[in-house]
Amino acid sequence: MGIARPESRLARRRFLAQALALGAAAFVRPLRLRAATRVRFVADPFSLGVASGCPRPDGVVLWTRLAPRPLDGGGMDPEAVEVGWEVAEDPAFARIVRRGTQLAQPEAAHSVHVEVDGLEPAREYHYRFLAGGEASPAARTRTAPSAGRGDERLRMALASCQQFEQGYYVAHRHLAAEGVDLVAFVGDYIYESSWGNDPVRRHATAEPHTLDEYRARYAQYKTDRDLQAAHACAPWIVTWDDHEVDNDYAADRSEDLDPSFLARRAAAYRAYLEHMPLRPSVVLASGGMRIYDRHGWGGLATLHVLDDRQYRSHEACPKPLRGGSAIVGPDCAERLEEGRTMLGAAQERWLDDGLSQSRAAWNVIVQQTLMAPAGREAAKGLVHWTDGWDGYPAARARLLASIAQRKPRNPVVLGGDVHCNYVADLHADPERPDTPVVASEFCGTSITSQGLRADIVRKIAAANPHIRLADSEHRGYTVLDFDRRRLEARLRVVESVKARESPVSTLATFVVEDGRGIA
Ligand code: FE
Ligand code: CA
Repeated sequence: MGIARPESRLARRRFLAQALALGAAAFVRPLRLRAATRVRFVADPFSLGVASGCPRPDGVVLWTRLAPRPLDGGGMDPEAVEVGWEVAEDPAFARIVRRGTQLAQPEAAHSVHVEVDGLEPAREYHYRFLAGGEASPAARTRTAPSAGRGDERLRMALASCQQFEQGYYVAHRHLAAEGVDLVAFVGDYIYESSWGNDPVRRHATAEPHTLDEYRARYAQYKTDRDLQAAHACAPWIVTWDDHEVDNDYAADRSEDLDPSFLARRAAAYRAYLEHMPLRPSVVLASGGMRIYDRHGWGGLATLHVLDDRQYRSHEACPKPLRGGSAIVGPDCAERLEEGRTMLGAAQERWLDDGLSQSRAAWNVIVQQTLMAPAGREAAKGLVHWTDGWDGYPAARARLLASIAQRKPRNPVVLGGDVHCNYVADLHADPERPDTPVVASEFCGTSITSQGLRADIVRKIAAANPHIRLADSEHRGYTVLDFDRRRLEARLRVVESVKARESPVSTLATFVVEDGRGIA
């Protein structure tokens, strides 16, 4: 058993306090503070690290989850436990500017999401959690600038796809030393399944289907110290892709056409929230989760963060009696249907409105997968992979036509999912290279997950002149430096993910000049 039980009358009073807290948070605070001192853990309760996310000019979300036995269900008794938090201007916590307490609830796997407000814009802060006399490691976060105050530059890292078995998180360790203001993680934070060559470590549990099983998977990933370091260096903004639930799922359809898939998806979504620095208000009564969102970085950048998974049309022309993706040729007419959607109608409208209204110098569309057309020649003609934007060409054409029409300043598309670095120009009509380039794309490689075969990627590059760089051989992340005049993107790659120590280098650097596209 994880923690010693507090004296039971006190525990009951704490539950009462928790109920009262819904209506009268200030009133119950002294009682909750007293209760917290009674808790003792059998081991470090902060084994999963800490995180921050969703930075705003006046605040940020802080996250942790109490798990003294991370690989054994968390190791907590089924009781609420009070967790303190502190935000300071200095790493020694001499100048604490905000502090408070929150209950870690067993229903939420003892995760804590603190929505801190009252902070100054464009400032670095340090935070930590306290529970039962234990302190978490301290970590660094940052508030967003407000327009015109400290918004001259933004250094952001782009990362995705960290299959735990296929490699160590060396890329995260290097990412943590890049001095970034923000990390954008665009999906495949966990993998539900085991696959790939030459594993360096193994999933501790079988493929998850239930809430507890997904929690166990997140817990194992989050015990990794290099991943914890990447969370501790800066606030993250996150979106999910398929593997947070099931490979190649589309809205309500799983790869194996599981009739109870929506229950599995709901469990996976809930576990995702429990382990991410998101606002709890993302949970919808419908069982879905509204994670598409917009983040401002003063007048410099607006980040439009998309959800390509929850609302999409089913993949076109699946294999018989299957869901999921396929490689299809010209005979798949369904792929080209006008009504197909990647974002769903509501999110499409939301994005169009955001692109119309944004006055930011850079409009960054942060999403899951490669947007540029990436078909390749094969025996049956030009073939396309149906899980990416190539499976939804009408939806992609609508999005790029919307950019062409609304003319937000400097649109840049970021992606992941394909475990390759792709740098591309996106045309107003994405399939017609004679139409103007309206956006630049940086689809980042994976942290660990293995890439496509090099010969396939060469064929893709050969068939698509708008692709400036295509590389499947390297794992890593992208560092994006924005200022008013330019964006510089450095594709950072590690030598190997099969060794814990491995150097990082820059595979290539691209510059996007204000108003000019990729130089
Ligand atoms: Fe992936
Ligand atoms: Ca994926």
